[in-house]
Amino acid sequence: MSKVILQIDGNNFYASCEQMIDPSIKGKGLVVLSNNDGCIIARNSEARKMGIPMGKPYFKLKNKLTQLNINVRSSNYELYGDISNRLMQLLRKNCEELEIYSIDEAFGTIKRPKGKCLYQWGKDLRALVYQNIGIPISIGIGETKVLSKISNHLAKKIQSNSGIFDIGIIQNKDPYLNQIKVDKVWGIGKRMSIWLKSKEITNARELRDMSSEKIKGKYGLVGLRIQSELKGNLCIPIKETTTDRKEICVSRSFSYPVDNLEDLSQAIIKYVLIASTKLRKYNQLSSAITVFMNTNTHSKDLFRSEATGKISVPTSNSKIIIEKSLSLAKEIYKPYKNFIKAGVILHKLQSDQYKQNLLFDAQNIHEELDTQRLDNVIDNINSKNGIDTINWGSSIMKNEWRPRREKLSSIKTTNMENIPIIYAN
Ligand SMILES: [Mg+2]
Repeated sequence: MSKVILQIDGNNFYASCEQMIDPSIKGKGLVVLSNNDGCIIARNSEARKMGIPMGKPYFKLKNKLTQLNINVRSSNYELYGDISNRLMQLLRKNCEELEIYSIDEAFGTIKRPKGKCLYQWGKDLRALVYQNIGIPISIGIGETKVLSKISNHLAKKIQSNSGIFDIGIIQNKDPYLNQIKVDKVWGIGKRMSIWLKSKEITNARELRDMSSEKIKGKYGLVGLRIQSELKGNLCIPIKETTTDRKEICVSRSFSYPVDNLEDLSQAIIKYVLIASTKLRKYNQLSSAITVFMNTNTHSKDLFRSEATGKISVPTSNSKIIIEKSLSLAKEIYKPYKNFIKAGVILHKLQSDQYKQNLLFDAQNIHEELDTQRLDNVIDNINSKNGIDTINWGSSIMKNEWRPRREKLSSIKTTNMENIPIIYAN
């Protein structure tokens, strides 16, 4: 038995999540927009075939999308995050180790029985994921991370592979590595690929076979490691991901510029409430907070400011974090600036099981328990009935500058109210 690396990736992930909750749009063109309905950030394969480009501003393509009858959705990160959690949990059960690499990508390991192709194993996992989560995935199998990435690329590229490829079982990999352009090799950045091309290295096979001295001389261990991984020697180990988060960031762009402290404070309170709810959900406490805000990054008078403050006793209490964040916001706010984005980051997260209190602080335990109970009641009501069913009065936003999400799908997997009703006769 030998260990193999898997690279698993959700196909057109955001678009697939949207299709999963609304099967009526399956088989039709679909694009997903960035925050504030700005640009196209995801497409399904149908929209790609119709020639819709990535990254273009929505307003420029609005008419074309209507003409082509392509469905449009605002990004729904709550939905994508929930589906991603479910996907990773299922993958963790089916792999020996798992490293979550991004919202829709993971590396895993399993053992290969001697000489056995793992195509059928991959096919079963793919079917299991589709049956349980409704998302199509691609699986690349290889001896190393770099090879498993290439394998995944081939899984997508070659139609008959139906989303799975096992390069690890193939003795002569040359015909496959020849198909992979050098800039598609994992870890090769833009500058490195320009240098490689200048040395007439254009594909993965040529990179594997080039002089190690040359690549070491220019890119040191980083370059050497990629080349060694291409040869099948594992150099970049799997980093198992713990579920404990290190920080929580909540930020949004406004639908139009905000220039007064009152509106900014409302936004910041809103973000703190989202972040502290997450903190409690994962049974964590925070002992530091950063507040930031900026004007348009493309404008000449770009203004960006941030401040970080410590919280003396680690907490998950909304009220304490709101108070701290508001004093930070006051500190960094500048009048006559048109802010278009603000956010909060909670850092120094720790488990709520080991809370360290101040030695000489006469904390009122009863008061603390009361505020905890209040937070829990608010969380319970909101999780059963939907976000903002009940919340702090100061967080009520004026609707006009709330981020635009005109084409938002409902969140059928995280909100009781949105669960579809099925009638059976
Ligand atoms: Mg993907």
